[in-house]
Amino acid sequence: MTKYANKTCYKCGIILPQPEMNQIQISEDAGHSTSIFGNTNKKAWGGVRFYTRKKNVWVRKKCNGSTSLGIIGLILFFTIILLFFI
Ligand SMILES: [Zn+2]
Repeated sequence: MTKYANKTCYKCGIILPQPEMNQIQISEDAGHSTSIFGNTNKKAWGGVRFYTRKKNVWVRKKCNGSTSLGIIGLILFFTIILLFFI
């Protein structure tokens, strides 16, 4: 039996085996760099360039995102707390 590697969902942080996940590509802000490419023959924007870079992340196939899951968790948490005081 093959054991799959666990992947962390980019949106909600849930860790599941790879078959439960989809890999997607996002652009993330990589900040700026100063003359990293060091090509002085070409015109540069004052030697500072801003750019984004592509990044592969894993997202759960039935992911609801972190917001709804967080709210449901919060409601459940307070419901359980309340039940102790009734
Ligand atoms: Zn998720």
